[in-house]
Amino acid sequence: MKLSTVRKLITAGFTICILVSIIGIFGGAGDPVLSNYMLTAAVVFFLITVGIIMKWARCPWCGGSLMRKFFSLKVCPHCHRDLETGKKKKGKGGR
Ligand SMILES: [Zn+2]
Repeated sequence: MKLSTVRKLITAGFTICILVSIIGIFGGAGDPVLSNYMLTAAVVFFLITVGIIMKWARCPWCGGSLMRKFFSLKVCPHCHRDLETGKKKKGKGGR
């Protein structure tokens, strides 16, 4: 899976998770059954998203974990390759 796709999936996963929680808390205020369903769904979406992070939030070139700063990283901190193109960083610091 492409890293850009993974980023979109994780963003969508967390957004859905938060939205469902909000619906569960506010929309389910007078309806404990709905509230329970929504909070369960939120937990499920959260676990799916965490699973995606565990499985795919890593460098496509060396397999190193990119969990930290996943959304701002452009170059792998382990092998220093560009995460999109796989090219080694040139110029300063690119020894
Ligand atoms: Zn790497």
